[in-house]
Amino acid sequence: MSDYYNDAVAARTRLATVSNSFCLAKWKQVSLHLTTGHTNSCYHPPLHPIPVEPLADNPSALHNTAHKKQSRTEMMAGIRCSDCNYCWNIESQGNMSDRHYRSGEPWAMDSFDEIILDPLADVNPSYVEVNFNNVCNLKCSYCSPQFSSMWTTETNEHGAWPTTVPHNAPEHFSGKRRAIPNREENPYREAFWRWWPTLYPNLKHFRMTGGEPTMDPNTYRVFDYVLDNPKSDLHLNTTSNFSVDKRVWDKYKGYVQKLCEGEQIEHFMQFVSLDTWGSQAEYIRHGLDFELAINRCEEFIRDVPYRSSLTFIITMNNLSILSLKKLLEYIVYLRKTYTDTYQRVWFDTPLLYTPDWQSMQILPMEYQIVMQDCIQYMENNMHEMHGFKDYEVLKMQRDLDWMLKGTTDVERKRADFFKFFTEHDRRRGTDFLNTFPEMSSFWQQCEYYANRSTSN
Ligand code: SF4
Ligand code: SF4
Repeated sequence: MSDYYNDAVAARTRLATVSNSFCLAKWKQVSLHLTTGHTNSCYHPPLHPIPVEPLADNPSALHNTAHKKQSRTEMMAGIRCSDCNYCWNIESQGNMSDRHYRSGEPWAMDSFDEIILDPLADVNPSYVEVNFNNVCNLKCSYCSPQFSSMWTTETNEHGAWPTTVPHNAPEHFSGKRRAIPNREENPYREAFWRWWPTLYPNLKHFRMTGGEPTMDPNTYRVFDYVLDNPKSDLHLNTTSNFSVDKRVWDKYKGYVQKLCEGEQIEHFMQFVSLDTWGSQAEYIRHGLDFELAINRCEEFIRDVPYRSSLTFIITMNNLSILSLKKLLEYIVYLRKTYTDTYQRVWFDTPLLYTPDWQSMQILPMEYQIVMQDCIQYMENNMHEMHGFKDYEVLKMQRDLDWMLKGTTDVERKRADFFKFFTEHDRRRGTDFLNTFPEMSSFWQQCEYYANRSTSN
């Protein structure tokens, strides 16, 4: 078994000395959505609002909210806080969850003693993910106006989507849920930049998400700060769709090359959001230029040869699995071609929960064959450097187990699948059946439920 897996197993034992619901990521990891003033710990729990008032005196209140402190208290007492159902569901099936994997990583486990000494004290996280800005050039099917300016423009023009409960209605993203544009005063972003000099020395991982970070001036402010204040233990990460225009791409790549020369940082991890292969990937992430993104993956690995790796974020949803194997084959190709002394190519397969009509759990049972074929391919190509690792296979198996568990309210979810993607084709000029011909029988089932729900 790999070190990563063994660390997670060791973490499970050590966490249990406090409780069976204790997770170090609740303290040491934070996701900050500064455009709307929301946070969670790792990115699985639902976002909750950050109260503005405490930020004036204590910018660390961006992370140490009363809500999180309540969850921390419950975890210490062995209560499964409702925020973390993602992990509880996985553990209920007897599988290792992200609670074990994340807690087992050094950025979390190194703080075990400090946390149990004073669990309710404010902590500076060592793993920080920030969304500064919702400017984005894509409209991914499962995204929303909160995260993408392209989505905002579209819903302002066309209104809510005609699902059972109207989806992404513009009025839902007003008031506290409105994404504050970069040009406007934003108390959360302002608090972040006050906190940054204190936060920076403790950081081990800093990741910028979006929106599209390559288009965001805050990204380059961070890059300039790091270049002026090199930190040899810092893992600096961004997430991108790799489909931005050439001018932005050249500027971005130039910065990353500078950061990775010499010893400015420990490592740069480039996350690339890509859920499957070819036209099906483009359909899921509207506006994605698949060929361009794939070419840039190789260009990135070649042109930033030191201190950098690339991770595919494959959000597992019901449209991603049919061409998934081709993406897995591409990962093997990249690993064989570019991995030599250290791993240059990684991937993760988080599950999509919302919107629920895009969940794998609403697929008919026969789709399990597609997933089993992917798992078989991975098992046939196990190799520490040039193939798949044990925990990657386990995670894929875990995703299949979750899919097979099924779900409630399937008829409504399938009806919404049809309603959403029919509207998607109308608004965006796409063609579902032409892109996913293998799903025609499922599409007809969904259409039947949609028609039935309309006539009831
Ligand atoms: S969702 Fe899991 S990994 Fe994330 S904070 Fe909760 S228990 Fe930890
Ligand atoms: S690239 Fe990210 S922010 Fe942009 S639409 Fe897709 S999921 Fe949303």
